[in-house]
Amino acid sequence: MSIETLTAAVRNIPDFPIEGIQFKDITTLFQSAEHLKELSDILYERYKDKGITKVVGIESRGFFMGPATAIKLGAGFVPIRKPGKLPYKIIEEKYTKEYGEDCIQIHEDALTENDVVLIHDDLLATGGTMLAAYNLVKKLHVSKIYINFLIELEDLKARELFPKEVELDTILKF
Ligand code: IMP
Repeated sequence: MSIETLTAAVRNIPDFPIEGIQFKDITTLFQSAEHLKELSDILYERYKDKGITKVVGIESRGFFMGPATAIKLGAGFVPIRKPGKLPYKIIEEKYTKEYGEDCIQIHEDALTENDVVLIHDDLLATGGTMLAAYNLVKKLHVSKIYINFLIELEDLKARELFPKEVELDTILKF
C-alpha cells in the first residue's frame, strides 16, 4: 500500500473543534484493517534496528499506535498523561498552548538511563506538546530519544523546534 493511499484515508474535518481548524481525523485510518496493518508495519520497519526499549505514548491519541508498536518491537510502553491521572510519584512539564498553560506528567520511575526511547504521538502541529514530552523524558536521563508522529503539518515548521541530533520521523505529511 502506498503512502498516498494511507494519506487519502485521513479524513479532514473543517472547523473542528473550533472555526478555522482543519482537523485531521485519524479514526478513518485506523478503522480499516489493511490501513492499520500497513501503518503498524511501517512503524516496525523504521524502528526495528534502533534498540528501542520503551515506547512512550502521549495521551490520548499516542495511545493507539504506541502500545501496538511497543509489542512489535519487543519494548515496554510508558504513558505520558495529563495531570491527575497517574497514581504514583510523577515529574511534570508545563508548556504554553494557544489558549493558556498546559501540563503533562510521567511516572518518575518509568524510564532509566539504560532506556532507548521512542516518543510517539499522532500528529505534529505547533510542536508544543511533543517539545514538552521531549523535555520531560530528558529529565529521566535516558540513553537516547527518537521521536515519531503519524502525521506532520509541514507548514507549521514545528520540527525546527527540536535539536538537530534528535531523529524526528513522520509518516504522512500535509
Ligand atoms: P501541537 O502541540 O500543536 O503540536 O498539537 C499536537 C497535539 O494536538 C497532539 O497531541 C494531537 O493529538 C493534537 N492535535 C492537534 N491537531 C490535531 C488534528 O488535526 N488531529 C488530531 N490531533 C490533533
